[in-house]
Amino acid sequence: MKIYILCDMEGTSGIWQPEQVDLTSSQYQQGRGLLVADVNAAIAGAFEGGAAELVVCDTHAGGRNFIIEQMADDPRVVYETPSGGDALPAIDESFDGLILTGHHAMAGTLNGFLDHTMSSAHWFRFTLNGQPVGEIGLETAVAGHFGVPLIMVAGDRAACDEAEAMFPGVVTAPVKEGLGRNRARCLPPGRGQELIHKRAAEAVGKAKELQPWKPGLPITLELTYTRADYADDAAANPAIERIDARTCRKVVPTADQVCRF
Ligand SMILES: [Zn+2]
Repeated sequence: MKIYILCDMEGTSGIWQPEQVDLTSSQYQQGRGLLVADVNAAIAGAFEGGAAELVVCDTHAGGRNFIIEQMADDPRVVYETPSGGDALPAIDESFDGLILTGHHAMAGTLNGFLDHTMSSAHWFRFTLNGQPVGEIGLETAVAGHFGVPLIMVAGDRAACDEAEAMFPGVVTAPVKEGLGRNRARCLPPGRGQELIHKRAAEAVGKAKELQPWKPGLPITLELTYTRADYADDAAANPAIERIDARTCRKVVPTADQVCRF
């Protein structure tokens, strides 16, 4: 059993202030340590559940968060970072499941801690074949292209609710609850890590029962930016159709391309 683990930061156990995910803040190093603990908990749980091989990808802010010498030291794991539009670079048909850790809800979610989709500053609303999706949906679509199902999400309550509503049967580990966008009520980090460990083991155990997400092809993506000048810039690309002042549309032939807007 081969599992891909994609790690964001906002939904990490014990991260309850925006500064902890901001690379320029003095609180970032503390947030980073918490992220590493969550990821190591997911790795341990995945092995306990029967995984034989893991690829673990660091995605927040382009992937510069893992403290590599503190990551689980095991010959069955490799670590990677995303590159350009490739959110999950090593994913292919050989994987049996996708686990998302540290995840947050899509832009515009009530009580979603640090809710956003791709860019808090630029992206207001995003749809895939008319359905609103966030990063959980986008990443699940890419994995689905390769026949890989989403098996688990760890994050705040809103992220877990979003995953359960879109992908029934997915295992979740809600480690905190957003109180508005910039505050959260958290489990103690050690409890969050324990929950992630336990749920990751459970998720790998049921990976064979879950189906990959296969949206109808070709896929129509629509992005409403927060400001018209961002849409002005995007519309310079001939593959993009301008819908209105702030909205652009792109049609992609296959789901592995949904992150390349
Ligand atoms: Zn992030």
